[in-house]
Amino acid sequence: MSDNRPIVAVVGRPNVGKSTLFNKLAGKRISIVEDTPGVTRDRIFTEVEWLDKYFTLVDTGGIEPDSEDIILSQMRNQAMLAMDMAHVIIFVVDGKNGITAADREVSQILRKTKKPVILVANKIDSQSQYDNVYDFYELGLGTPVAISSANSMGLGDLLDEVVENFPEGLNTEYDEDIIRVAITGKPNAGKSSILNNILGEERVIVSPIAGTTRDAVDTYLEKNGQQFLLIDTAGIRRKSKIYEKVEKYSVIRAMSAVDRADIVLIVIDAEQGITEQDTKVAGIAHDEGKGCIFVVNKWDLIEKDNKTLGNYTKEIKEKFPFMMYAPVLFVSAKTNQRMNKILETVQYVASEHSKRISTSTLNDVIGEAVMLNQPPSDKGRRLKIYYGAQTDIKPPKITLFINDKDLTHFSYQRYIENKIRENFGFEGTSVKFEYRQKN
Ligand code: GDP
Ligand code: GDP
Repeated sequence: MSDNRPIVAVVGRPNVGKSTLFNKLAGKRISIVEDTPGVTRDRIFTEVEWLDKYFTLVDTGGIEPDSEDIILSQMRNQAMLAMDMAHVIIFVVDGKNGITAADREVSQILRKTKKPVILVANKIDSQSQYDNVYDFYELGLGTPVAISSANSMGLGDLLDEVVENFPEGLNTEYDEDIIRVAITGKPNAGKSSILNNILGEERVIVSPIAGTTRDAVDTYLEKNGQQFLLIDTAGIRRKSKIYEKVEKYSVIRAMSAVDRADIVLIVIDAEQGITEQDTKVAGIAHDEGKGCIFVVNKWDLIEKDNKTLGNYTKEIKEKFPFMMYAPVLFVSAKTNQRMNKILETVQYVASEHSKRISTSTLNDVIGEAVMLNQPPSDKGRRLKIYYGAQTDIKPPKITLFINDKDLTHFSYQRYIENKIRENFGFEGTSVKFEYRQKN
C-alpha cells in the first residue's frame, strides 16, 4: 500500500456477515452475498468515509482454521495478510449462532496481534437478541459491539470505535492524486490476467474449484511516481448453478466499478469481439464522463496481416461512434505484447481528463472556428458565441456564452468540439458542453 491511509480489515469465519457489513459500510453493492458456503472472494478494498475521515476497508473473505479446503486455506492466507497490513481489525462473529470452535481459534490468533481488535457480534437484529452478546466476552477481546448488518443497526457506533482506534500519523484525507482505474469486460476477456500482468505477480485468487466467484478487487500500485488504484470487476470462473445467480450482478458490479473510477478499461476478447455488455458498460462510462480506453486482449490468437489492426480499430470506432476519442490498444496478457502501453495510456488519458485550458487560448480557437464556419441561423437570426470557458474537469466541460439557446445545433457543437480536440486533444475523454444565454 503506497499511501498512508488507515486500513481496516474485516475478518471472521464464513457466513457471519462480513460481506454484508462490508457492503453496508461501502454504501454500494460491490460484492455478492451468497448463502452457499465456500463462495469466496479475494481481498476486497473499498474506501469508506466516516466523519470526514477516509479509510480503506478490506474484506478478507474469512478465516477457517483446521480446514483442509483449498478455498478456506487461501482465505486464511488472505486474512493473515490483511491482519499484517491493517491498522484496525474488525472481528465479526455470528451473534445468532453463538461461539464456535473456529471463533475461539481465530480469537487466539487475534489476541497475539498488537493491533486494535474490535469484536463485533453481527445478526443482532432486535433488542430481544441482545442478551446473546454477553457470551462473547469469553473470547477475551473486550466488549462486543452489537450490530445488525442486514438492518444497518449499530454501524455508527462501530465506525466511531474504528475511527477512534486509528494510530497517529496516518492520512485520512481524500487523495486526489490517485488515478482510479476500472477494468471491465465480459468474463474470460482476460481482466485478471491483465491485472496480474500489470502487477507482475499472482495476486488475484484463481481458484481451480468450479463455480467459485470473485468480486471487485481493488489493488494499489505505484509506478513511475504515480499511484494507481486498480479496480478489477472480476470474472466468473465457471458455469454452474451459482453462475446463473451471479451473472445478473456482473453488469451491476461493472457499473459500480465504473462509478468509482476515473479511467475505464473496456477489455475485449479479440477473438470474440464486442459484446452487448461491453456496449452497455462503454455507454455508461461515456455518459458519466470517464476516461475510456479500449483494450483488445488476446491479440496473440488473431491471425494478422497488415490490415488487421486498422480494420479492428475501424470496427470499434463504428460500434462506438460517440467515443471516437477513446484510444484502442491491442495487447496480449499472455505474450506480454504492448502490455506496458496500458498504464502509460491510463496516465496519459488521466492527464487529458483533468486538463485545464486557459480561457484566452480557448477563445482563440473558438474565434477562429467561428470565422471559418459561421454558426447556424434560424429565421434570420444567427447564433452568436460571445466567448467560451472551460468550467470543469474530469470530464472537461466547456461553457459557451451565447445569444439564444434555441439557435444551437448539435452539428455545430460537434464542429466546435472537433476544433477544440484538434487543438487541445482531450484524448480518451468526452467533452461536455453547456450553454449560457447572455443578452
Ligand atoms: P460472510 O461469508 O461472512 O461474508 O457472510 P455474508 O455477508 O455472506 O452473510 C452470510 C449470511 O448471513 C447471508 O445469508 C446474510 O444475508 C446473512 N446476514 C448477514 N448479516 C446479517 C444480519 O445482520 N442479520 C441477519 N439475520 N442475517 C444476516
Ligand atoms: P477474466 O474472467 O476476464 O478475469 O479473464 P481471465 O484473466 O481469467 O482469462 C480468461 C482466460 O483467457 C484464461 O484461460 C487466460 O489464461 C486466457 N487469457 C487471458 N489473456 C490472454 C491472452 O492475452 N492470450 C491468450 N491466448 N489467452 C489469454
